[in-house]
Amino acid sequence: MAGIYDVAIVGWGPVGQSLATLLGRRGWSVVAFDKQPGLYPLPRACHIDHEAMRILQAMGIADEIADALAPAREYLMLRPDLTVLSDLPRGWQTPSGWDASYHFFQPHIEGILDEAAKSTPGVTVRQSTTVTQVRDLGDTVQLTVDSGDGPEEVHARFVIGAAGANRLVKSQAGIDSENLGFEATWVVVDVEIKPGYEEPKVPDTGQVLDPAQPRHMAWLGTRHYRWEFMLLDGMDPVEAAKPENVWPKLRHWVNEESAELLRSTTYTFRSIVADTFNTGRVALAGDAAHLMPPFMGQGMVSGMRDASTLAWVLDLVLRGAAPLEFLDTYTLSRHSHVLAYINESVRVGEMVCETDPEKAAARDRMLEAQTQTPPPFQPPVGGFFVPGPLGGQLSLQPRVLHNGEYRLLDDVLASPFALLSIDGPDLADLSEAATQTIDRVGIVPAVLTAEGTPSPESASPVFAEQGDRFTQWLRAAGATWVLVRPDGYVYDSGIGRVSLEASLNTLGESVLVSV
Ligand SMILES: Cc1cc2nc3c(=O)[nH]c(=O)nc-3n(C[C@H](O)[C@H](O)[C@H](O)COP(=O)(O)OP(=O)(O)OC[C@H]3O[C@@H](n4cnc5c(N)ncnc54)[C@H](O)[C@@H]3O)c2cc1C
Repeated sequence: MAGIYDVAIVGWGPVGQSLATLLGRRGWSVVAFDKQPGLYPLPRACHIDHEAMRILQAMGIADEIADALAPAREYLMLRPDLTVLSDLPRGWQTPSGWDASYHFFQPHIEGILDEAAKSTPGVTVRQSTTVTQVRDLGDTVQLTVDSGDGPEEVHARFVIGAAGANRLVKSQAGIDSENLGFEATWVVVDVEIKPGYEEPKVPDTGQVLDPAQPRHMAWLGTRHYRWEFMLLDGMDPVEAAKPENVWPKLRHWVNEESAELLRSTTYTFRSIVADTFNTGRVALAGDAAHLMPPFMGQGMVSGMRDASTLAWVLDLVLRGAAPLEFLDTYTLSRHSHVLAYINESVRVGEMVCETDPEKAAARDRMLEAQTQTPPPFQPPVGGFFVPGPLGGQLSLQPRVLHNGEYRLLDDVLASPFALLSIDGPDLADLSEAATQTIDRVGIVPAVLTAEGTPSPESASPVFAEQGDRFTQWLRAAGATWVLVRPDGYVYDSGIGRVSLEASLNTLGESVLVSV
């Protein structure tokens, strides 16, 4: 449609930037608006996980971002005297092909996200432009925007509200939210160690469980550090963030001579989730759809998951391979998944923010008595998968031999809907309906063999994995094939051609219905 963008994005934060890149790389025209002239200048995210790295990989910038990251190996719960109460190691082997956790100084990675999106063909970014109205016209969406010269109308086939805490798109689309009740106000401070001064001994993440004033500290890599202090009843948030009130709390580690105070501000952490993440031609992503306290470092990561799922769901609808109603798959996938992260972040937050001395002592005894490390928190995706041993779980991304070097599988296959098998089922024997699903959904088949084992005969590309983790993963699930969604979650797994055919038919019915 001439003069109409495929997708308009309201908000140029990390979530809007990620979505623009993922859609632009799929060939769609995207226009994004932000009321600010530049990127948000205050301290916020400092942690991302392996799944976010896999999404950054799909955006083509994981290696560049990785250079600005420091792997985060420990999450310590500390007593007020800074001795260790409990250690939640972050060194576990993830499915994604990346380390479990990373820390960073936000401006170092925001510039990369911004530049990657702006240099993606088809992406137009209009900063200093406020979106004042969004109207779903049924076959298109109309946005009213203002760059300072008065209102202007822009049309798109879909609009995504990624405007953070701003409620404009949410309220104009008539979407309500649920407030889950947690609220706490903290001062957040970023510091850089000056040249020539030794770096302080600060854990990768340390939560100081002090009922007198809960605190947090983190090493962000590259001589940058974060400290946070919870405000107690009656404390003035503006006063508390002033340098003269912040420095005395840092002097155990740094002082005005050894370090520069880069940013100091106050945030109220909340827990809120929108009732739905899509309606008609409008969808919400990132903080516009959900807010969580930052104790697991999952707010932005959850927004990046939104972008990753929304990109492939929208792609199918935009190219006419699925009807408009298929957008509901986005809410189905994301709502309960992010709710699980919000609830877990609230659970950790309530534990950290405890100021009642008796309850705090009981919590400490509980942590001291813990003998086993809890398993990593990895909830399944909310929907659009077939229940089974692997359905809904994150798929395993191995390195495979390609043109003489081991590379991450998504880079080789370019992150499509993938049919990965270890025995190379003969796809020529599939029914016409199943073959049609492969073509219309854009499923890319590949056969993976364990390192050093012979390759089966197959018409599909065959790759040798580095080691045998992928083949063992499938065998342990009693499967010979796995269908992987473009956002890395397993749609279904099974053994042999007959179960594959049934799964493709189910997939075809749920995607293609009413096209
Ligand atoms: C102290 C703190 C620590 C955190 N730590 C972590 C962490 O370690 N890891 C993690 O994953 N997350 C963390 N988070 C959460 C993370 O910062 C947010 O989830 C993330 O920034 C949200 O990104 P977004 O793109 O959805 O929204 P935002 O970054 O808020 O961007 C929204 C954009 O929309 C623009 N906008 C608003 N209204 C309009 C309008 N009408 N027209 C045009 N533009 C508009 C705004 O100017 C803004 O640029 C933390 C948050 C805080 C406060």
